[in-house]
Amino acid sequence: MQSQHGASSFAPTSRTAVHRMRPRASYDRALAYAILDEALFCSVGFALDGQPYVIPMAFARWDDRLVLHGALASRLLKSGAGGVPLCATVTLLDGLVLARSAFHHSLNYRSVVILGTATELVDVEEKRVSMRLLVEHVHKGRSDVARAPNDKELAATRILTLPIEEASIKVRSGGPLDDDADLGVECWAGHLPLTLTAGSPVPDAAHPPLASVPEALLHYQR
Ligand SMILES: Cc1cc2nc3c(=O)[nH]c(=O)nc-3n(C[C@H](O)[C@H](O)[C@H](O)COP(=O)(O)OP(=O)(O)OC[C@H]3O[C@@H](n4cnc5c(N)ncnc54)[C@H](O)[C@@H]3O)c2cc1C
Repeated sequence: MQSQHGASSFAPTSRTAVHRMRPRASYDRALAYAILDEALFCSVGFALDGQPYVIPMAFARWDDRLVLHGALASRLLKSGAGGVPLCATVTLLDGLVLARSAFHHSLNYRSVVILGTATELVDVEEKRVSMRLLVEHVHKGRSDVARAPNDKELAATRILTLPIEEASIKVRSGGPLDDDADLGVECWAGHLPLTLTAGSPVPDAAHPPLASVPEALLHYQR
């Protein structure tokens, strides 16, 4: 994938070079974007006074940028806007890997780590687009029916974008990698796929909705 501005692969840096399990590593932009577009939230790390914090957050992808939003008072967003470096991690958990030995138990996953410095969006139109993308990321088509944010709500929201440039991907799939010496151990071995599945939509009990449940919500999947 040739992105809007960047190359089809991320150039590994000294900070994103994967040292262990190299075959699982990738720098392919299209793969990273597929993972990001499927995930519902990211975990954003930042350090203040030597103390690392990792905070879960909703996000959206705007071409080659990750969009984060929250209250003006959010410590993470304030810090990011002030130039504190960020690390955003997204993980899709795909399954349990059950080996014959305890040592080779593992998880199947697809994950992306993005390092960088964020920029605060101040342009109102850019903030509007970001809010739309954040809602669309969760449920496609939702921005067409939900009321858009007004000026007061936009003013109360801080929005950062993080360039998706210094990034790496790791993927593990398939079954266990047992040692030959353990193949005779009488213990079931294999993997258990895990997926995120939606339950049935529950209408707002306090204020019953005036519209019927959207068809797409009945078949919601990532
Ligand atoms: C799936 C998910 C998506 C979210 N999406 C967003 C979003 O898009 N925007 C947004 O602003 N917030 C989001 N939140 C909430 C977010 O994780 C923080 O709780 C929130 O931003 C608090 O900011 P703060 O500056 O008040 O807290 P901080 O000052 O950053 O936090 C102070 C302390 O509170 C504790 N704390 C903060 N958040 C959490 C947490 N989630 N769980 C446990 N302890 C915590 C920690 O000990 C932290 O050091 C999301 C949470 C989840 C779980």
